Amino acid sequence: MENLYLIESHSVSEADFRRAAYIPPFSADELLDSENLSERLQTTLEIEELLEIFAEFAASQVNFASMTFHRTDFKHVVAYTDHSKFAHHFALAIAGRQLGHICYNTLTALSPLQLEQLARLHRQLVYPLKNAVTFLELKQSALKDGLTGLGNRCEFEDILPRQLAQAQRSGIKLHLMVLDLDKFKQINDKEGHLVGDEVLTSFARVIKRSIRESDSAFRLGGDEFVILLFDGDEEVPATINQRIQDGMRSDSTLRKLKVSTSIGCARFRPADSMRTLFERADRALYQAKAAGRNCLKIA
Ligand code: GH3
Ligand code: MG
Repeated sequence: MENLYLIESHSVSEADFRRAAYIPPFSADELLDSENLSERLQTTLEIEELLEIFAEFAASQVNFASMTFHRTDFKHVVAYTDHSKFAHHFALAIAGRQLGHICYNTLTALSPLQLEQLARLHRQLVYPLKNAVTFLELKQSALKDGLTGLGNRCEFEDILPRQLAQAQRSGIKLHLMVLDLDKFKQINDKEGHLVGDEVLTSFARVIKRSIRESDSAFRLGGDEFVILLFDGDEEVPATINQRIQDGMRSDSTLRKLKVSTSIGCARFRPADSMRTLFERADRALYQAKAAGRNCLKIA
């Protein structure tokens, strides 16, 4: 029966909504509640925390199954139950700056009064949300490599210990691959740095296309990249290596300049720390270079 339900979608921007409905001032009780919400929203710059606080408050006023906030490169879902039939979308903006979209999934269609309550709450949310979005953008840019858009060393060093702890707890199979372009200095010297940069961005694109959404790739610096593979069986590093080789052959810049890469891979062991895992992968990379380059070695 479940899949017979139709999700109805209402797309309402704050401005459209205000034009369409007169929003009465707060009652005395609501004013107290709204002051409480404003105070609580000012306690954090972390966007997930802010949305959790907001959702808890909004759910006490309007019954919804889940609330989703999304914007480029960011999505956060607060779900109370799975049962919903209707989706109500709002665009959130402040002073012409688009902050993102918020969607409420509900079991019954929201009444004009409930839509009005949400619109009021959004007016309280947008200022703190703007600050949290700015903070998020700063964090995202501090963690990304400016040339390739991959995560940078900072993000890698932030993520790896957490992933290792999770792998230790859950027994997830994890591989770390370290990739370094072969004789890249010669490409820079012969073709110039701009072409060198183009090689790095093309190679990053090939890496991204070769891995799953749940895996992650980083540029550590120069021509050195790493890939973290989750839940991979023993044969997965060889499969990824093959995809990278195929991807490099299909890329016109990399093919024309005969770019190749050496790869060292380490399989996670329960006793591993970030340092021991990385050192093993690095040693395997060294072996790949020593074996004549353009190959994968697994430690
Ligand atoms: P090997 O096969 O032993 O790795 O030889 P290699 O020439 O690739 O040596 P290495 O990996 O040490 O060289 C890295 C080079 O990458 C050195 C530096 O000139 C170049 N490089 C580092 N960062 C950048 C960058 O952002 N852009 C460009 N174009 N080149 C960079
Ligand atoms: Mg190199």
